Amino acid sequence: MHRLCTLMISGNTGKGRHFFMYERKSLDKKLRAKRNHRGGLLLAVLLIAAIAAGIPSFTSIMVFAAAESSAVEAVTEPKHREGKIVSDKKLNPRELAVRKMTKHGPALIVVDAGHGGVDDGCLGGGLLEKDINLQIALLVREKLEKKGFQVMMPRETDEYLAIEERVELANSYQADAFISIHQNTYEGSDKSVCGIETWYDGADSTRDNEKLAKLVHQEALKSTGANPRELWDIADYCVTNKTLMPACLIETGFLSNPEEGRNLSTKAYQERLAEGITEGIMLYFAS
Ligand SMILES: [Zn+2]
Repeated sequence: MHRLCTLMISGNTGKGRHFFMYERKSLDKKLRAKRNHRGGLLLAVLLIAAIAAGIPSFTSIMVFAAAESSAVEAVTEPKHREGKIVSDKKLNPRELAVRKMTKHGPALIVVDAGHGGVDDGCLGGGLLEKDINLQIALLVREKLEKKGFQVMMPRETDEYLAIEERVELANSYQADAFISIHQNTYEGSDKSVCGIETWYDGADSTRDNEKLAKLVHQEALKSTGANPRELWDIADYCVTNKTLMPACLIETGFLSNPEEGRNLSTKAYQERLAEGITEGIMLYFAS
């Protein structure tokens, strides 16, 4: 993320006047062009004023440096909340409630597809957890965006991303909720074990993890008719415990169960799961 740059300026009013300016951190092209434009104008005005008034240009330069820094900061600030903004006109009253509940316009949801790249997650029936997670997460994003939410996905392709990086992304974007999507597997010989489990950090009372987890769990069960397994309040995962916003981790089924595994690999069942998860998030913000 591009942040405030530091300008180093020097000058003297000896025999000639010269100025050196460089930046320590790079800014993107658009920002740099804006900054140079504003900086150039400011420098010209201050220089002329300094010469006319006979004030040593060093004073002017210090004023310029301060003005320049705040201009750059003001330009970089909106990047912190980049995201898709959907027109108010398309939203129904219930969807509009989503916006009223948050300070920054539409709530920003992080949809985290577990594992990826070299990390396959669990396996079963020729399926890789990382693939099912991503397919469901992409559907959840599509549905949330249709409802007017902003969505950020730490990974959108089959790539490896450390869990710490996912958490850092969510925290730096000041997201309003975090959902991590995973699949389960039963290590024993019983292939009949199946259903949905959801995890949250019940020890952290500063975030409303329980409400989010309960609603996502409840709605995913309702939309799929899957076997209701536990809603665990003892999650000890980085994504549930180190995030600064309400967070939960849903395991949408068991790849070790042949029937559930088959379901999880179909678009129709994934759609139902995504609808349930989206509805849970809607209810969280609307109630
Ligand atoms: Zn997993």
